[in-house]
Amino acid sequence: MPYVHDTLNRLQHSSPAQAEFYQAAEEVLECLRPLFERYPHYHDHAIIERIVEPERQVFFRISWTDDAGKVHVNKGFRVQFNSALGPYKGGLRFHPSVTAGTIKFLGFEQIFKNSLTGLAIGGGKGGADFDPKGKSDAEIMRFCQAFMTELHRHIGPTSDVPAGDIGVGGREIGYLFGQYKRLTGRYEGVLTGKGLCWGGSLGRKEATGYGAVYFAQNMLADRGDTLEGKTCLVSGAGNVAIYTIEKLLELGARPVTCSDSQGMIHDPEGIDIALLKELKERRRGSLEEYVGQRPQARYIPVRDYPMNGHSVWHIKAEAAFPCATQNELTLEDAEVMLAQGVRCVSEGANMPSTKEAVELFLEAGIAYGPGKAANAGGVATSQLEMAQNSAMEQWPLEKVDEKLQRIMADIYRQCAETAAEFGDPGNLVLGANIAGFRKVADAMIDQGV
Ligand code: GLU
Repeated sequence: MPYVHDTLNRLQHSSPAQAEFYQAAEEVLECLRPLFERYPHYHDHAIIERIVEPERQVFFRISWTDDAGKVHVNKGFRVQFNSALGPYKGGLRFHPSVTAGTIKFLGFEQIFKNSLTGLAIGGGKGGADFDPKGKSDAEIMRFCQAFMTELHRHIGPTSDVPAGDIGVGGREIGYLFGQYKRLTGRYEGVLTGKGLCWGGSLGRKEATGYGAVYFAQNMLADRGDTLEGKTCLVSGAGNVAIYTIEKLLELGARPVTCSDSQGMIHDPEGIDIALLKELKERRRGSLEEYVGQRPQARYIPVRDYPMNGHSVWHIKAEAAFPCATQNELTLEDAEVMLAQGVRCVSEGANMPSTKEAVELFLEAGIAYGPGKAANAGGVATSQLEMAQNSAMEQWPLEKVDEKLQRIMADIYRQCAETAAEFGDPGNLVLGANIAGFRKVADAMIDQGV
């Protein structure tokens, strides 16, 4: 189909430094071929040329001083990708690896993820190449304030509502919100993931991880199976990984791993969630300390990982939840996982599996839930926080969790039904991309050029 081919060609040549964005765009556009064959009218509206181009991108300088008084400069980004379905919505990532290309790929994925939730939210993303590791609390605060000093003029509760992502949790959202309020004089739902006593939603912190587990439950239920008793691999040790592990334990599964940038834990008896929370949420420390209190567990530092593997994926298990970062799970990892019995993969992170790994999972016919579907519970619950803010209400946890479960079941159903409609039942990558795209495209057509 020359239409898809031409657009991909143009993207590849116009943005050589944006490999992750190209990877994400290629996957989506390749999946759309059968849709365009059946519904050629999308061509007439130049939807794919328009959808790969962000509506607006803001690049800015962030200057801040460390505790010794030294001035530092970082790059800040906010990509307002697509507002066909609602205000731009998507997290902020603070990590030294962040570039304009990273934020563009994440913003692009967010368009389809947000569409799948069935809620009125468009796609956006932001962040900075700031490394929060080793920074004092006061330095984090000053950085967040400097970041918001520029960002505040581009966001608003009905225009663009950022949230957290890697490196941005409750503490950072608090500092960002405080500065927004100081600068604008407005106390409004301009960020999600807020603290519970100042506008946050119950269940938001847990939502991405819980949602990825609910998604796995739905995939397995369709195959007459459950998570109960299954040994599970989880990567990451941030918000998403912690609450994936918590929900797996609650459902009687056995999550045996977690990892951070320094190393991984293998606890064959199942991760001790209270200890993990103590180390990562309260002390913000290293995973290495975990083994001091759990003698049966092993800590493996990154330097001892096998040559081209990420050890978490090399442990024998039946289900896997990649919850760390993009492209963390390679073809070699996928081969080992399948050989060792993994039959269910539900992605808590954004695009954690490489293109080749995804292809292998699909070929093997296992239950594979791509991130844009499986991790949509976080942003969906962010929208529930926005709804509570605008109604000046706070809903009980049971209500939020019940809505989250319903949204995840609905996302699964949309993906599965769309995959079957386009002749490839079980291919949730195809289903997620077509179902996510369709609503956005139809809204763009309705709203004119
Ligand atoms: N950063 C999360 C994501 O990747 C959440 C975004 C949000 O809540 O706006 O979907």
